[in-house]
Amino acid sequence: MMTDIISNLAVIHARINEACRKAGRLSSEVKLLLATKTVAAHNICIALRNGETLIGENKVQELEDKYDSLKTIPHQTHFIGHLQTNKIKKVIQYADCIQSLDRMELARKLHKQLQQEGKTMEVLIQVNTSAETSKFGIEPAHAAAFVKEIAGLGALKIKGLMTIGLFSAEENKVRDCFKLLGKVKNEISGLNIPGVEMKELSMGMSGDLEIAIEEGATIIRVGTAIFGKRIHPDSYYWNEAK
Ligand SMILES: *Cc1c(COP(=O)(O)O)cnc(C)c1O
Repeated sequence: MMTDIISNLAVIHARINEACRKAGRLSSEVKLLLATKTVAAHNICIALRNGETLIGENKVQELEDKYDSLKTIPHQTHFIGHLQTNKIKKVIQYADCIQSLDRMELARKLHKQLQQEGKTMEVLIQVNTSAETSKFGIEPAHAAAFVKEIAGLGALKIKGLMTIGLFSAEENKVRDCFKLLGKVKNEISGLNIPGVEMKELSMGMSGDLEIAIEEGATIIRVGTAIFGKRIHPDSYYWNEAK
């Protein structure tokens, strides 16, 4: 398992480097986030000791369970799952960034709790670029208005956008999702909203990271290609309620 993880990481970095080269981008512009849902802490440690610095969890319970085992190795943890408002306190305790901010009620409650604790939190706005009702995220057409509305909530540091693209063998349809996220980013950037940064585009996973990098991803989220297959379908992990 250990050698698998290390060699898989080498493959992923080679894929990132090659995609960046083709797109005329620097590899340093693309951060690799390890999607570690269901992955045991000792296997995450192998990756972190091998030089990785960023992980993402989908469930607050897993954040909490693995926290002690990982805390001695320097790294950042992003929350990438659907977040229920009753988990806000815990997510604040364990995560450095929430990539899945997708609704007003969540933004308000998160802001309020952060204020009470005298903290701030980096957030990405999750946008539903595939128009699938099964996926979370704000509709592309409503994203700018949403950012405008929450920009005044000072404890939330808006750093960019996140999306889960379409799962499709048709590359063009996948690419359209990533293009759309880039378009929404440009639209919001153009509004020059005080306090809002649009520097991160979190998109692309094991199967489509090359397309995402071509379309401007700054964070790619990779699980399966590093840690192997999971037992449940992805839809299971995308909903924190389950
Ligand atoms: C699991 C997951 C990933 C990684 O998916 P893989 O196909 O395993 O690389 C990326 N983003 C989110 C939100 C995920 O839940």
